[in-house]
Amino acid sequence: MCLFCKIAIGEIPSKVLFEDADLLAFHDVAPQAPVHVLVIPKRHLASLAEAAEADAAILGKLALATRRVAEETGIAASGFRVVANSGADAGQSVHHLHLHVIGGRAMAWPPG
Ligand code: AMP
Repeated sequence: MCLFCKIAIGEIPSKVLFEDADLLAFHDVAPQAPVHVLVIPKRHLASLAEAAEADAAILGKLALATRRVAEETGIAASGFRVVANSGADAGQSVHHLHLHVIGGRAMAWPPG
């Protein structure tokens, strides 16, 4: 079972912001900004590269959950970035789909 599958079932502790039957939002252990929350599906899906039509509903829920993260952490008005690293070139290190929700400071573009 992968690291985020274990976090999803509570086998590995995390700082949970909110959850429902299908997804979990929790604080990144190594935050890159004042707010850095990860949103994951509880069911294992490796990355967007493996996503299929059957995953459309959970992908929509994950996207909407980023808005809730921003609202609950107070960064909805100031702005936030959502990142999904997929594969080696993007630097994905945990192979369970996760959306990074990052905010609370100004960010540069393009990313490194
Ligand atoms: P990525 O490099 O896009 O795969 O992002 C993986 C993220 O997971 C990194 O930002 C890590 O800091 C974060 N991470 C790794 N282990 C944990 C953990 N146990 N709890 C919370 N976040 C974690």
